[in-house]
Amino acid sequence: MLSIAECPDCGNVRPLFEECPHCGSQNIPVLNSDTVEINIKQGSPLVEDALGQLTDHLRKSMDLGIKAIVLIHGYGSSGEGGRIKWAVHEALENNQYADRVEEYFFGEQVPFGSEPYRALLKRRPGLKSYLQRFKEGNAGMTVLLLGTSHRNA
Ligand SMILES: [Zn+2]
Repeated sequence: MLSIAECPDCGNVRPLFEECPHCGSQNIPVLNSDTVEINIKQGSPLVEDALGQLTDHLRKSMDLGIKAIVLIHGYGSSGEGGRIKWAVHEALENNQYADRVEEYFFGEQVPFGSEPYRALLKRRPGLKSYLQRFKEGNAGMTVLLLGTSHRNA
């Protein structure tokens, strides 16, 4: 994980969304970045569990002041990875996360080095170090831009 979350109580590196394994602190960790990567396919969860995890992580990300999420959902024509991906796409397109996710970009829409890719990085430079790794294609991820502000209509 590229983003480092530090425990405000003991100073150790700790997971973003869980209590500190070093001292048990549940206080909000200190982040070195406004961008994080979240992997919801890890452990091959069922689709419902993966979506539940996403909902939970979105809420906590807002609390942490995170501005952009690189969501790793996996892909594939068969298997749970593909199902998670399509469930995520469907949920986003049905505005299921509209109260937290201001905009989203499916990996396929922002191929490495393309015009939309560069436009996205201009808006959220913090994404660069994450997206550089997807040079070979990024069908397995979606970029979520979080926001509380309203865009001009
Ligand atoms: Zn700690």
